Amino acid sequence: MHRRHFILSAAALGAAQPLWAAATVKAGPKAALIVVDVQNCFVDGGTLPVKGGAEVVPVINKLAGGFENIVITQDWHTPGHASFASSHPGKKPFETTQLSYGTQVLWPDHCVQGSEDASLLKDLKLPKAQVIVRKGFHQHVDSYSAFQEADRKTGTGLGGYLKERGIKTVFVTGLATDFCVAWTAIDARKAGFETYVIEDATRAIDLNGSLAKAWKDMQAKGVKRIQSQDMAAA
Ligand SMILES: [Zn+2]
Repeated sequence: MHRRHFILSAAALGAAQPLWAAATVKAGPKAALIVVDVQNCFVDGGTLPVKGGAEVVPVINKLAGGFENIVITQDWHTPGHASFASSHPGKKPFETTQLSYGTQVLWPDHCVQGSEDASLLKDLKLPKAQVIVRKGFHQHVDSYSAFQEADRKTGTGLGGYLKERGIKTVFVTGLATDFCVAWTAIDARKAGFETYVIEDATRAIDLNGSLAKAWKDMQAKGVKRIQSQDMAAA
């Protein structure tokens, strides 16, 4: 196929943003890499494994070299957390229930505070990471987003931290694309940051079409979808 035709049809299919025009995206000193939930719970052998989850590690490690600012997030639940199916008699994982703030997907017990399951993957090499945001630690409120809990009221403080550090742009990576990555990216836009999701540095759960919906929602909010190869070399 002629290259031009390929590019046009890729755009028509709603693939990655048309970044061939701008050859590369540069991180710069006012950008932060956000590494979402790359924890044992979300990879093979964990309590809520995301298919191919561990594959993001080498991609993120390589990207990290190009950033002066790195933030890590960690899902960090109390035992018996409201997002666990086991806390709701008669409910099974991946069903939904109504909590005080709306519909909540119910998950297997995962990422319990202080457990090995909740630890970051040991192969993740982020020596420059400056802050770890732990989320989902309120017993009755989940938090997919690194910026705001699922009640859509309680802030985590990350927006203020990044602003005080002079950050203008964030690049979101990690697990899972259609939940914590998407919610983090959408809230980053809401907080006023230019926001990119680096697709090949994420993996998805894709529950009942959640991945396609997440990309649609992110793109509607102005989140830019790129690949790690679109980033300028460090
Ligand atoms: Zn969780």
